[in-house]
Amino acid sequence: MRVLVLFLAYLLSMVLLAAAYGGTPAAATPAMPTPGTPVPTPSPAEEDQAFAHFLSDFRATALAQGITADTYDAATRGLERNGHIQDLNLNQPEFSKPVWDYLDTAVSPQRIADGRAVLVADADILGRVSRKYGVPKEVLVSIWGNESDFGRSMGGYNMFQALATLAYDGPRTDYARPQLIAALKMMQQEHYAPSQMTSSWAGAFGQTQFVPTTFLNQAVDGDGDGKIDLWMSVADAMASTANVISNAGWVDGKPWGIEVKLPAGFAYEEADLNLTKTVAAWTKLGVRTVMGGDLPASDDPASIYLPAGARGPAFLVFPNFKSILKYNNAASYALAVCLLADQLKSAPPVAAAWPRDEQPLTRDERLALQNSLAKLGFDIGKIDGIIGSKARAALRTWQKAHALPADGYATQDLLTRIAMDAKTH
Ligand code: CA
Repeated sequence: MRVLVLFLAYLLSMVLLAAAYGGTPAAATPAMPTPGTPVPTPSPAEEDQAFAHFLSDFRATALAQGITADTYDAATRGLERNGHIQDLNLNQPEFSKPVWDYLDTAVSPQRIADGRAVLVADADILGRVSRKYGVPKEVLVSIWGNESDFGRSMGGYNMFQALATLAYDGPRTDYARPQLIAALKMMQQEHYAPSQMTSSWAGAFGQTQFVPTTFLNQAVDGDGDGKIDLWMSVADAMASTANVISNAGWVDGKPWGIEVKLPAGFAYEEADLNLTKTVAAWTKLGVRTVMGGDLPASDDPASIYLPAGARGPAFLVFPNFKSILKYNNAASYALAVCLLADQLKSAPPVAAAWPRDEQPLTRDERLALQNSLAKLGFDIGKIDGIIGSKARAALRTWQKAHALPADGYATQDLLTRIAMDAKTH
């Protein structure tokens, strides 16, 4: 279950959040060429041939796992690699979107209005599914809106082409090969025509962008017509999504989190999704609701989440937030889902201001920051332009040593300061 959801998380975070996600493995490093020897690049014709060989070799793997020759051949007949997907697979975007820009889209007035319309139009389905699985209808509608804009952008790639391209070569073969097998199983089991099986470039599909392995393990027939269709049946998509969220541990009737105000002198190194304390312990440290009130009484473990560092809004998040993280392991995604769900319930919007004057670091700047940290002796793993957990831990340590709020959030200011430090080191 965890693994399946992580696959989904992996995909969606790549698609939605690109460089913001720290878990993307870097491209397999080829053996170092002898100096002076040009690195051989296969011609398109050679690559086409290699792709055809891959498909032919993979046939045996698929057949050994219960895929019939008919299914495999129907799915892969005339299949060509997709060069655009190969580019997307290999290249990290130069610019990453700041979380407030992402939330502006994810929780826009239009998205809220569309979500409210869906709550009315599909009230019967949503009410039934919500009661059966114990997941609020607003959360389901929010996931639907965030994943495909209520079915408007489900992805127009041929799923077999997308997954075979990723499975053939590049940094995501370990992800894509089992997904390709699972997509073949889906086709065989549900009798889909291959042409009907459309997906995002990363292979996520349908109203709520499942990946094939999650489909096989957790999709359900929500409308009782005997088949599961996550593209066309809203009932199937909502019931399947509710099933995944319920399996991820959502507890009905409990909050996902609340916006809070941190006290002056707060130990920012404690703002970490992996660190939990009781609400009583946070209260003792001076954490209040954003309006200055008492935190709700709760025995649940809670973490402080700062999506934009110490200068932005702060949230106290509970286990339900982490259930959404199991659906998609990108915290900004989980926040978008929870904030949109709140808006659908007419809860107050985020009160604190986002630090909109902050310019997110470009890829070159992220590389420079990693280099400076490495030069200062921090273990930050691979210098890959992705600010992951090691780089964030190093930033926190450096900030603490320099009497700055240890939020681990990479800013232009921090980049400059750390570069200066590394220069004189
Ligand atoms: Ca159905």
